[in-house]
Amino acid sequence: MKTLIKLLLPIALFVSCEEQKAVQVLATTSVVADAARQLLPPEVEVTALMQSNIDPHSYKPVERDVHKIHSAKIVLHNGLHLEGKMTEILEKVSLDKPVYAMSDPLKSSELIRVGPNVFDPHIWFDLKLWESCAKGLAIFLMEQFPEHRAEIQKRSNAYSAKLLNTHNSFYQKTNEVPDSLRAMITAHDAFSYFGKAYGIEVKGLQGISTAAEFGVKDMSSAANFILETGLNTVFTETSVNSKSIEALKEAVEQKGGAVRLGKPLYSDALGEKGTPEASLIGAFEFNTTQILNSWK
Ligand SMILES: [Zn+2]
Repeated sequence: MKTLIKLLLPIALFVSCEEQKAVQVLATTSVVADAARQLLPPEVEVTALMQSNIDPHSYKPVERDVHKIHSAKIVLHNGLHLEGKMTEILEKVSLDKPVYAMSDPLKSSELIRVGPNVFDPHIWFDLKLWESCAKGLAIFLMEQFPEHRAEIQKRSNAYSAKLLNTHNSFYQKTNEVPDSLRAMITAHDAFSYFGKAYGIEVKGLQGISTAAEFGVKDMSSAANFILETGLNTVFTETSVNSKSIEALKEAVEQKGGAVRLGKPLYSDALGEKGTPEASLIGAFEFNTTQILNSWK
């Protein structure tokens, strides 16, 4: 038995070291993890709690996640209650370790208010807004990793420039499209900041949280909206059930119209690791290509 313990002990130590290393920086969503990866040198490992295709509104941390959160050096989250079922654990953990919300640098006047003291949490698809969030994150990361201060500052400057370039380029492209064509319908309200920033009328079938239900009335008014605007495409989302959008397609057909399902857009989660869409800018380029094509 003693020999077995001796044999297993180095393995156990190795495993615990690996686990510790894996949770140096823990980010809740893939979008938040991407921001941290853009800013930190590669030797600082960033772990995302939710993988691609995961809906953050309904995500409940399992025991393994709770362990990861507690063992991480720092925790990053979106804020504005995007991670609706994690509020309690994030509050608790902030008492004993540094926790940063991406939404922290934003003023309430920059946010979309959806109720008394309730704001739309989908801030990342307005790249100009996200640039402020990433800049705030860089300041936080420089405090947490002073040994990498110069590298983080350099990366932050380069990333800000990239976000603003992508923002300006899409802004110009959308503004070449006639006003009457600039509209889109998606499964849930993840694109309100996006619509506001780039001058696109956006309708989500399910409200700002996927937890909200949609009714027959919403479906009928969305179908009428499609017929009035002449939209030819409706979009599902990679992290949201496509049932509501498929029902909308049927509702349009029942009213004598036709609409097709576009490729699923990245909304609350980014693409699979190793694909261009695993980064926010990659996902933004993918989405905006689909949206621009739908207006042709
Ligand atoms: Zn959402």
